[in-house]
Amino acid sequence: MELTINPTDYKPRLIIWEIACSCLENNLKIKSFTTKECFTIMDTIAEVSKPIIILASNYSENSKCDPLDRQDIIDILLYGNSIGLKMIVETSGEKLTQDLRNVLKTIGTKCIRVLIHDQIKEDIDNRFVQSEKFKKLDNLINQLKNEGFEIQLGIILKNFNTRELSFVVDYAVEKNAKGIYFHFQNTKSPSKSKKVNHNREDAIYWIAEQKKLLPDEMYFSPQCIKYGIKHKEDSKETESTNKSTHWCLSGKTFAYINGKGEIQICNSIKNVCGDLRKSNLNFAEIWYKSDIFNWLRYNNFSCLQTQISMTKPIPNSSESKKEIYEKI
Ligand code: SF4
Repeated sequence: MELTINPTDYKPRLIIWEIACSCLENNLKIKSFTTKECFTIMDTIAEVSKPIIILASNYSENSKCDPLDRQDIIDILLYGNSIGLKMIVETSGEKLTQDLRNVLKTIGTKCIRVLIHDQIKEDIDNRFVQSEKFKKLDNLINQLKNEGFEIQLGIILKNFNTRELSFVVDYAVEKNAKGIYFHFQNTKSPSKSKKVNHNREDAIYWIAEQKKLLPDEMYFSPQCIKYGIKHKEDSKETESTNKSTHWCLSGKTFAYINGKGEIQICNSIKNVCGDLRKSNLNFAEIWYKSDIFNWLRYNNFSCLQTQISMTKPIPNSSESKKEIYEKI
């Protein structure tokens, strides 16, 4: 049977956009999009759907950029909200001055996502190590809460250490954060290294277990994953019971725009699905036409399966697609 997919059936619900990027490429600073270009990109996103847009920075360790570095950040937020997008800024918080918070309040921003790098660490005496960075972060979160902002915490997950993560979760619960959002990060792109990150699957299943222990209203997940149950009847192996599983949402409801304007599967898988600068800033065109996204739509891959599949060329006939899928 010929399996077909209709790309227009798929609408992004969440896009992470590295809107501020100070990274160097070939010793040249990457050129950010102008305000007008950002508006055009948002218009073409809104043609497809009205997703949540996380205005983010580059997640690499050396990156010092932050969306709040942009002078036009308020214009971008206002414009996005005016066309129905749900705009959220993810910031390390250092630039979140009282003045800026006042402006954000005035324009109706209800929620701020604070990116915690490695500020929250276990301490025998004080529960959390009281470093300068921690104190600043803690102060900021308290202030934001007092001012009525909803707090989300963003975490870059490079190494999976359950004890370290448990302390972060404790902190988030203590602060009554609305959610913890994970960004997976690799040291190397699987497409270049031809390696996949098996450790990530452990993290994904650990997160699923922790979700059960947290307050119902607290979001706790990588944003590019859907958890669910795989029924034994749908299993290729002869499973005797239904089991928990997860699916990669990239190309289905999730996309990632890097600092150069390329659309990727996610932050950690750098295969390029399309380049906004080479496509008249037209997100919709890339979303519908990308071979990679259509390949992911054709398959219900887990995170690991997506990583493995990206180490191989994408097949172009349904039969060979099926063959490769069976092997993954
Ligand atoms: S491969 Fe898919 S599930 Fe895994 S991190 Fe990337 S987008 Fe998320």
